[in-house]
Amino acid sequence: MIDLIGAVPGTLSPLVDQFRRPITYLRISVTDRCNLRCVYCMPEAGLPWIPKAEILSFEEIERVVDAAAAVGVRSIRLTGGEPLIRPDLPRLVRMLAAIPGITDIALSTNGMMLADQVAALVAAGLHRVNVSLDTLREDRFFAIARRRGLERVLAGIDAALAAGLAPVKINCVVMRGRNDDELAELAALTRERAVFVRFIELMPVEENLDLQREAYISVDEMLERMRAIGELVPVDGPQGNGPARYFAFRGAPGAVGVISPLSHDYCERCNRVRLSADGRLRLCLFGDNDIDLRTPVRSGASREDLTAIFRGSMYTKPERHHLRLGEQASRMRAFSEIGG
Ligand code: SAM
Repeated sequence: MIDLIGAVPGTLSPLVDQFRRPITYLRISVTDRCNLRCVYCMPEAGLPWIPKAEILSFEEIERVVDAAAAVGVRSIRLTGGEPLIRPDLPRLVRMLAAIPGITDIALSTNGMMLADQVAALVAAGLHRVNVSLDTLREDRFFAIARRRGLERVLAGIDAALAAGLAPVKINCVVMRGRNDDELAELAALTRERAVFVRFIELMPVEENLDLQREAYISVDEMLERMRAIGELVPVDGPQGNGPARYFAFRGAPGAVGVISPLSHDYCERCNRVRLSADGRLRLCLFGDNDIDLRTPVRSGASREDLTAIFRGSMYTKPERHHLRLGEQASRMRAFSEIGG
């Protein structure tokens, strides 16, 4: 990755943190609001939303990304909350795609509004999409997401494939007693479609500690249970920045992935930082030290000022998170606050 830097005019030496990890990936939350209320993520009544005036405008996000690109960030992921509820997201994608050095723009979405927007997003320069899908049963979808919409999500996945987005990844948070008996059916999607179904360990946040304690399943157990369905062969993952390990059923066009933030962390390979919707630079999903970028951005900071802040932040990126079953690892109440 680092040798790419010289190819972009006007770029500075790339970000490397104090543990010698190159930082090339910025995940941006464009809103903390969501149109679902997944039991593991957010209380049914929602959270105290960030006031609109505090949310970064597209132009402000563009300035942050321009500075990040100047110090070696190459990949952007737009997330939230639910990013597709932010009006006119394709305009932001177009703005970010035009920044020299940004070569990869991805989106994390719950898929509810994807079918309607995917064509405009692809035309604007979106490369990849991750869609969250925890169940294939409508009653369960309602029990987990506390809203209806399974058909819309499935239509969104098909629309993303039809629009030529690749890879299309499906993220599934596995919970004992809620959807763990669907591992086989969800994994079987990879036999029919060129999708990457990724099973994720349930992570503890303030809002879900009881659920997390009772419903957590390790990826080792998930893999054990999937092997009972068919032989799984380790394969290389699709292009991406992530921590997943991939396996495929013989002859399948897609693959199954597992992501194990608790049981086998991958902090030593961490390549990312996060920008919250209100402009805080978060160095670790589960680290509470963040850096206010909104104030400098709104008080006329130059690109050089912002690159200096990025560079300084590298000394505060923690070596690892300290996630433990049923314990709160940070002040974060829900992923939507930071951008999951
Ligand atoms: N709304 C978008 C979506 O659904 O992908 C983006 C934000 S959402 C917070 C990002 C991902 O985080 C989703 O796949 C969601 O399932 C996952 N997530 C949220 N809370 C989680 C938790 N406590 N443990 C594991 N994954 C979680």
